[in-house]
Amino acid sequence: MLNLYKKEEQKSHLPSIDENELSEQQVLDECMKLKEELKDQLVILGHHYQQDDVIAYADITGDSLQLAQEAKSLDKKYVIFCGVHFMAETADMVTTEDKVVILPDMKAGCSMADMANRREIDKSWDFLTSATKKKIVPITYINCTAALKSFVGENDGSICTSSNAKGVISWALEKGEKLLFFPDQHLGRNTCFELGIPLGDMIVYDPRKLNGGVTAEEVEKAKVILWYGYCSVHQGFKKEHIDLIKKNDPDMTVIVHPECSYDVWKNADMAGSTSFICNTIDKAPAGSKFAVGTEINLVNRLNAKYPDKEITSLSPYQCLCTTMYRVRPRWLLASLKAIKEGKPINVIKVDDHTKKYAMKALDKMFEIS
Ligand code: SF4
Repeated sequence: MLNLYKKEEQKSHLPSIDENELSEQQVLDECMKLKEELKDQLVILGHHYQQDDVIAYADITGDSLQLAQEAKSLDKKYVIFCGVHFMAETADMVTTEDKVVILPDMKAGCSMADMANRREIDKSWDFLTSATKKKIVPITYINCTAALKSFVGENDGSICTSSNAKGVISWALEKGEKLLFFPDQHLGRNTCFELGIPLGDMIVYDPRKLNGGVTAEEVEKAKVILWYGYCSVHQGFKKEHIDLIKKNDPDMTVIVHPECSYDVWKNADMAGSTSFICNTIDKAPAGSKFAVGTEINLVNRLNAKYPDKEITSLSPYQCLCTTMYRVRPRWLLASLKAIKEGKPINVIKVDDHTKKYAMKALDKMFEIS
């Protein structure tokens, strides 16, 4: 995956469990023991895309919206977030000041979140707002740094997840005449199309090009300005995969995440957030068959959970989120040991200014949701 843009600056503090010190099984046993020992002061959150060996320790599992909502009401001092960096930042912002949020591996980022940074967004905003007098409302997908969440708060926009994107975008289009949506072009395009906006009314702003590769006339004409960003995992699903699945078994239901490209989203039988996918499969009768267009760890877990249903990946290739996969039990153990010693490592802390405006946008999202 081509890392297009420089990541927002962040401190890296790698845990120090020696690979030769403990076997994998010893690591798993130690994690269980320490988790039990620390249970009165600790909660572990696990995103659906985490590997099974990590999910086994999670007190709460969910997608980004569910985990953000759960984090708001946690009462334990330490929150270990088994997910990626932007999710841990969100957890730090929604929890009270006395909570300590920990990301087991500071290099667990998100390639999509890395495709937009504050400098580029500020630059695009200057150009877009000088190209038109019409009101543009900025909306960011929650998969971005706290600095971008702060930007939308400062400019009276909001944040969305794949679960609530329709509601948030509808709100934005009532409030203004145009929408700037970042960093995922696919979620923006698919949701806007679902809301009745023709593809011809959407343009793509590519920050690698002068003025995003768009003219002032195009900005004036467009209803929606989509940032050129994408998820390297979900963009891996192709319409050819749907054609192949349907050719081999026409009874297979194709269900995909809206981070997939328009072509895939349009040709799938169903599309929705990670929790939508989980709920749909859960409620389906025995014997149902699903080809799922989302991260492979979740697909494999759903397959194991419902032996009476046939659940397979939409793609013949491994669609693995390699950054989520960075969180390993060994790193989790290092975080647990550090808490026990009273010297937590890999603490995620968002500065007060960023938090103030990012929270404004997050609160707007919770209100709309
Ligand atoms: S699946 Fe895609 S959007 Fe989600 S964390 Fe991984 S790279 Fe980011």
